[in-house]
Amino acid sequence: MGYIQNRMRLIRLIRIYPLVVLTLLALVYLLGGFSEAADPVIPRSALITLLYLFASVVPILFIISFILIGAAGDKVAKQASSSDKFTYQSPFDLPSEQMSGYKLALITGRPPTLTGLTGDTYLADASAICSKDINHVPPVAECECGFYAYRDLAEATFELSVNPGAFLLAVELYGVGFKYDRGYRAENQVVTGLKKPGRCQHCRILPGRVFVTSYRLGYDNTSWWQWQFRCLLCSSSHKSADKLTIAQMAKTLSVVIT
Ligand SMILES: [Zn+2]
Ligand SMILES: [Zn+2]
Repeated sequence: MGYIQNRMRLIRLIRIYPLVVLTLLALVYLLGGFSEAADPVIPRSALITLLYLFASVVPILFIISFILIGAAGDKVAKQASSSDKFTYQSPFDLPSEQMSGYKLALITGRPPTLTGLTGDTYLADASAICSKDINHVPPVAECECGFYAYRDLAEATFELSVNPGAFLLAVELYGVGFKYDRGYRAENQVVTGLKKPGRCQHCRILPGRVFVTSYRLGYDNTSWWQWQFRCLLCSSSHKSADKLTIAQMAKTLSVVIT
């Protein structure tokens, strides 16, 4: 899937863009672009023009790239749905394929529970339930129901980098399943592992040691307990009732933590 990799590359480029602009500004400053000296190294007008060009042209290039990548994605989706139309509408005819994948989850609530980024909670071994139609046995082709997973670890890891409060799960999907360009959507899911973050999810510097929970207030008076994996320093102010060791968390979630 070339366009997915291109999208990731583009997002990485956008992240370093402010740094590039600052470097450029510093360079222009050092070369005398902002000085009143009569005889700068490079004509001031040339430097200022360069700066204007960079500040206006590069964002336009980013926008054009996003449009092109989006169009490429739509094209792939269209091709997939027209060529596999029959199998997609008839999941029972799908060739049986082992559906191993990766996904992101939060840990919320008391006791701690795996929670999808959309807010649905689930057990480590579960069958999907449709929230839109009680007559659905997920996955249903025309609906969004079912358990989702990415096929590609690199893609899940990238999504993790833009969702820093989440944890990376390895899952096996069973039963009726659909394959789509980024992964699978299926009936049953077993979480085979949870990867603990390398660093503390609070300070992002020290190594993580313990799970702690804090009370979060959201919109519409919603509030929830969110679990984070933290270093000893960032967990020191938590009461012992709000802490779980790695082994305790693994037991509560019935998931192997690696
Ligand atoms: Zn449904
Ligand atoms: Zn910390």
